[in-house]
Amino acid sequence: MEFEETLQIALDRAITREEALFLFEETEKPAKYLKLFEAATAVREKECGNLFRLDGWMGSNIECKIDPPCKYCRRATPGYKWEGWNVSAGQLKEIAEAFKRTGTTTVEIGGGTNPEDAGPTVIEILKVLRESGLDVWVNVGPALEEEHIQEMKRLGVESITSSFETMNERIFHEIKPGDSLEKRKELAHLINDNGVPLISVIMTGIGESYQDRVDHLFYLKELENFYQLAVSWLKVHPKSPLEGTIIPPSPIEAARTVAIGRLIFRDIYINVSDPQHIQLWIMAGANRMVHAGASLHEKGGFSIGGQWVSTGAEHIDVGNGYEVMSILPVTARYIMDAGMEVEPTVQKAVGEYWESATGDATMKAV
Ligand code: SF4
Repeated sequence: MEFEETLQIALDRAITREEALFLFEETEKPAKYLKLFEAATAVREKECGNLFRLDGWMGSNIECKIDPPCKYCRRATPGYKWEGWNVSAGQLKEIAEAFKRTGTTTVEIGGGTNPEDAGPTVIEILKVLRESGLDVWVNVGPALEEEHIQEMKRLGVESITSSFETMNERIFHEIKPGDSLEKRKELAHLINDNGVPLISVIMTGIGESYQDRVDHLFYLKELENFYQLAVSWLKVHPKSPLEGTIIPPSPIEAARTVAIGRLIFRDIYINVSDPQHIQLWIMAGANRMVHAGASLHEKGGFSIGGQWVSTGAEHIDVGNGYEVMSILPVTARYIMDAGMEVEPTVQKAVGEYWESATGDATMKAV
């Protein structure tokens, strides 16, 4: 198999399993991964256009009950305390309006795995956000019954997530000792079989082989309603059970997986939820992100975006000690500077924010 020829063919048709494995093996060096990225961005542009979507995040809605916690999770660090919300339906409306004010059109309702609470809690929040005109996707682990999925579909959910992280059973049980790959597969099929668009996450750098990644990606490809691939890479929190046991990978591993995913899936959304490397994800073929937009937080609480952006974030008070914090003024500019477009609502809201903050609506005044 020739490298250049494989990429040339990939411009016109989806790559095969063998070609995907070949590309993982061949693109460890810059001269070749840059060519891989070039092919992936060409396919993205041809199949999806030039729009990069930035979703809002409303996580921590449900306290996770997985025990013991996944080893890479913040729950597995000493002293971790769940930052749950205590918001009323009235406040939810205010939160929805704050998201809209930032230009956000779509919000993730996220939470941990808790079969007792997840379905009803998500449905309650989903109703309010949908009535407010927001699109919504859901990510609460293997904690939903078929009736919940059907009700969410009736309410117009955009998509529902079931993430495997890895489909290598030995590694799954090693890093997620309290979780069940079988339940996650069952949920993915339930979502797919009910005609609801499916999101799923693949995590790189946890000891999996290239063959594991290829098998995982092609398992997802078999699901006819597979809608969005999310790619992550292992991060080790200080004092977590993984500290000192594994060296986390470079983000390049996630980027190569994004690019090969783009050559396999072609026209679906590919998402990497890490705002620090937006340009890398754009170069690799991604076209959507969460944690790079607006998010609901307890004031002063933990926020992925807040750890990264030191200036330019917008803070909207939503009462009761919470705020919607938007890093869109920064990330929208990054994306446009990298040659892609953001949603018109985001562009307008960010321009207005810059104008009120700096007197300049061009988004160049930092
Ligand atoms: S299921 Fe998610 S929230 Fe729960 S322990 Fe695992 S990573 Fe953490």
